[in-house]
Amino acid sequence: MEVEEKIAVALHPPRCPQCGEELDYLDYFAYAAVKSQLEIDEGGEADWDAMEILDDTWPGSIEYQCPVCGIVMFHDDDSAVRFLKGKYDGPWGDK
Ligand SMILES: [Zn+2]
Repeated sequence: MEVEEKIAVALHPPRCPQCGEELDYLDYFAYAAVKSQLEIDEGGEADWDAMEILDDTWPGSIEYQCPVCGIVMFHDDDSAVRFLKGKYDGPWGDK
């Protein structure tokens, strides 16, 4: 972070608008396509390979949530980043 950004965060620490907790990270959720492989193992059981996350998240599925109370705070990366840098004053809720 730039010096000015550190000062901005120190003066204006990001707080959840619902629970008021000071936050230094947000939980991120999104739907994305995954790729895997299915085969039948030697024991005759279905065996899926590890899921590989493909690049594209589904448009509109991104949620940034407060890790303390779980409220959905943002649906876009830009607002979430600005919030953590102490530069977001609203609006809150769905846009
Ligand atoms: Zn909260």
